[in-house]
Amino acid sequence: MTASTGREEKSEFVRPSSIAESVHEQIYERIMSLKIPPGARITIDGLARELNVSQTPVREALTRLERESLVRKEHLIGYSASPQLTRKEFDNLYKFRLMLEPESARQACLKLTPETLARIESAAADMEKGEPPVDRNSRYSRFARADAHFHDEILKVADNEIVRQAMSDQHVHLHIFRLMFHSRVTQDALEEHERLLTAFRTGNADAAYQAMHDHICLSRDRLVEAFG
Ligand SMILES: [Zn+2]
Repeated sequence: MTASTGREEKSEFVRPSSIAESVHEQIYERIMSLKIPPGARITIDGLARELNVSQTPVREALTRLERESLVRKEHLIGYSASPQLTRKEFDNLYKFRLMLEPESARQACLKLTPETLARIESAAADMEKGEPPVDRNSRYSRFARADAHFHDEILKVADNEIVRQAMSDQHVHLHIFRLMFHSRVTQDALEEHERLLTAFRTGNADAAYQAMHDHICLSRDRLVEAFG
């Protein structure tokens, strides 16, 4: 288990740098793309064979995924992929975001410096990148993490660690992105982020509040389709 700084997290979704990173990334993609379906059993030796690695990096990856709430470990039974969000959990997560994130965007806007604005801009730019030959699943699962990183950068600038921790404990982005693959989800989100960045660049705190509020509502409306 390694503590990681923001900078390491960033390089992690761009370029897995070691076997452990790469194994984590591959299992993460399978869970996000539902190749490992919600609730499915996950065996350490099965995954080690499939990925052609020893059990150690698989065990490490599962420990980390358990912290991200994407897998569960049950005594004497072992690991399984976490169940999908229920409709009620989904609704509650979005209510929770709406309580915290628009106001945090306003606070962040009031506290921005050229340096912190540059960090937010760079997190936004990361979302449009991705290694050239990545397949759709892997692009999507990286997008989920990059979106989490972008929102977290804003919470960092807002400078309320209690709010930031409450958001990060929910792993909101990983769970909502796991609900559905949808190419519009990524394109629309980028356009909404751009509106937020415009508010930050012009120092318009009310516009930042509104842009974040609208982004969260639109994200909810896109993803609610996953429930049919
Ligand atoms: Zn977003």
